[in-house]
Amino acid sequence: AKEHGRNTFRFYTADMNARAREILAVENQLRRALERDEFVLHYQPQVAMSSGAIVGVEALIRWRHPERGLIGPMQFIPIAEERGLIGDIGEWVLREACRQNRAWQDEGLPPIEVAVNLSAMQFYRRDLAEDITGILKETGLDARWLALEVTESVIVQDVESTIATLAALKAMGLKLAIDDFGTGYSSLSYLKRFKVDKLKVDRSFVMDIPGDADDSAITRAVVNLARNLGLQVIAEGVETPEQWSFLKQEGCDEVQGYLVSPPLPAIDLANRLARGAWT
Ligand code: C2E
Ligand code: CA
Ligand code: CA
Ligand code: CA
Repeated sequence: AKEHGRNTFRFYTADMNARAREILAVENQLRRALERDEFVLHYQPQVAMSSGAIVGVEALIRWRHPERGLIGPMQFIPIAEERGLIGDIGEWVLREACRQNRAWQDEGLPPIEVAVNLSAMQFYRRDLAEDITGILKETGLDARWLALEVTESVIVQDVESTIATLAALKAMGLKLAIDDFGTGYSSLSYLKRFKVDKLKVDRSFVMDIPGDADDSAITRAVVNLARNLGLQVIAEGVETPEQWSFLKQEGCDEVQGYLVSPPLPAIDLANRLARGAWT
């Protein structure tokens, strides 16, 4: 047993070292990626259920790695957060999303909102509002075409700061959405105090509607809650016509998911937008 334990431990440390080395390597490559312009944004349509029109897009980052190809955010955003690189990457995302949205408007495409995901470190920075003001000025995008998505778990970390930050952002005229709604805890009581515009029903609930009774009940409750509070509600991860029907019947405002479209490169999104309504 002793022998076994020691081997296990040795194996474990070797594993940890490998993992630590991997993280360090990714960290260094991420620093270079910013300089070398290896990041790219894909845009996933958000459509109004009433008209089928694309009313917004969520900007989702990818990394065009010179050797490893296109890498998804789950593989590097957590490392960027842990190693303090998310500030610079996040700022690049904000600027690029605003620049692109303004460019679409300049092409004469119907104006849409662009939604950007914010990490905790960005959300709780003191000069967030100031930085965004600068980016909007620089890119010429009107604030009303920018939405920020912050997860429920981030928003409840420091309630007093959140209230102040949300008020400052709101005063600028941009939109705020609570991402992954329903997966955090106890935010119901905060909803009154948080001045947000939109709730995003998490994909984990949407996935099993309408077959799963519990998830259907939760989704229905969130949609009703949003409506009663005068907030917009969008369902993410919608993949089937059955999910669409259920959400439509419950009065959900918007949907986002593979049923409508996966995240697209900017050029494909523009073509899509030019074609008009989805349904
Ligand atoms: P999220 O904010 O919940 O974004 C939605 C994710 O669900 C995206 O994954 C999207 O591609 C995926 N998705 C959309 N529709 C469907 C569907 O119908 N079915 C399924 N199975 N998946 C769908 P993605 O692009 O891999 O992004 C993963 C996460 O990475 C995002 O989750 C977000 O938390 C984070 N992320 C992405 N871009 C950024 C960024 O610029 N900054 C920060 N801080 N985080 C980002
Ligand atoms: Ca999101
Ligand atoms: Ca989400
Ligand atoms: Ca999610």
